[in-house]
Amino acid sequence: AKLDIRTPEELVAAAGDLDLSHFWMPFTNNRFFKANPRLLASAKDMHYETTDGHKVLDGTAGLWCVNAGHGRAPVAAAIAAAAQTLDFAPTFQLGHPMAFKAATALAAIMPAGLDRIFFTDSGSESADTALKMALAYHHARGEAQRFRLIGRQRGYHGTNFGGMSVGGIGGNRRRHVSQVWGVDHLAHTHGDAVRFQRGMQPSNGNLADELEELVQLHGPETIAAVIVEPVAGSTGVLVPPQGYLQRLRDITRKYGILLIFDEVITGFGRLGTPTAAEYFGVTPDILTMAKGLTNGSVPMGAVAASREVHDTVVNGSPAGIEFFHGYTYSGHPVAAAAAVATLGLYADEGIFAHAAGLAKVWEEAAHSLRDCPNVIDIRNIGLVAGIELAARDGAPGARAMEAFHRAFDAGLLIRVTADIIALSPPLIVSESQIHEMFGKLAEVLRQTA
Ligand code: PLP
Repeated sequence: AKLDIRTPEELVAAAGDLDLSHFWMPFTNNRFFKANPRLLASAKDMHYETTDGHKVLDGTAGLWCVNAGHGRAPVAAAIAAAAQTLDFAPTFQLGHPMAFKAATALAAIMPAGLDRIFFTDSGSESADTALKMALAYHHARGEAQRFRLIGRQRGYHGTNFGGMSVGGIGGNRRRHVSQVWGVDHLAHTHGDAVRFQRGMQPSNGNLADELEELVQLHGPETIAAVIVEPVAGSTGVLVPPQGYLQRLRDITRKYGILLIFDEVITGFGRLGTPTAAEYFGVTPDILTMAKGLTNGSVPMGAVAASREVHDTVVNGSPAGIEFFHGYTYSGHPVAAAAAVATLGLYADEGIFAHAAGLAKVWEEAAHSLRDCPNVIDIRNIGLVAGIELAARDGAPGARAMEAFHRAFDAGLLIRVTADIIALSPPLIVSESQIHEMFGKLAEVLRQTA
């Protein structure tokens, strides 16, 4: 085959002739997509444009990641400069300034004490890194028998074996039968009794107390860590009850179990604060991130560990490598430069505060869909909302998927999971764009009925 050396612009112009057969697309109905391709050509601020010139308002910040809006010049410039200066440098037994600078900049917005940063390339890698860090911590303390990991039903921690095992999505687990051993799950936090709740659900202490039961079942001396998303995102925006996260913190602390927050979605201003830990006033021992760290521009994830976790592993290990873990691209120079530029943008433009300031407008707009056809629940917090639809008889997910296609054609990008629509716009969204988004969605829901 001849090498295709066309530029991105030339490819867009000739998109109709593209060979779609080779790219096995992730989390996609490949057969459907390839029969009805929707190709994005460019993006600026709050909008995507398709290869055939259709403009689409981004209601999902890409995949929950483009928090500062698309096509940000300072990030692009930082990437270009970094790539020209130092395209790659190992961070195994060597280093380069930008990785240390990125870690310092990230540590500055973490909850107090959570300022030791390990870099990864994605949210999935961050989840697995956090789990291994927890095991390494207990090992270094002479408690290697703590091997159990507790996740939660309807949790999503990416697709690698550790994250998949502690995660609680049937579709991810059942087809890949082999799982990490010794994992158990808490119940998810969404009860049918609470519908159309604005923000946090009322207190429901029993849910977190289930952890006490798991501790008694397995023995506290066998449990290494509990991992949860402060707000479950990918399974449909499940906002925790009042006091729930604090209760998990209290129980884990009582038994020497590490608490891990997966903040791949909630990090970087989604709730109007740098982290959900800060929003809820609960500090875990380990906090995972990805997505918004580079504004989605290049792949990068990170894990923030407490000094206690870091120092125990680093000082408690024999001479030599302390943590047998890392990726070729941990702290990659180009990604690190993108992170530094992104964190700079968040600070300079007050993007998290802007998001916090719009949270009430967002809540009102989201709940205005309450009387649309088939809407059976609406949940919201910060600049994220989940709109749950009644499933069609015998065709779970079909109604939301129809809404997805209709919305796209109407110029709005939404995300769907089962029959739940999730919205999480870039945090630079304006009040009028929020109204445009929910207005379009209301119309789509009426057509989808
Ligand atoms: N953890 C959470 C909470 C996520 O929402 C995601 C992705 O949506 C991941 C982990 C996985 O991240 P990635 O797709 O970058 O591997």
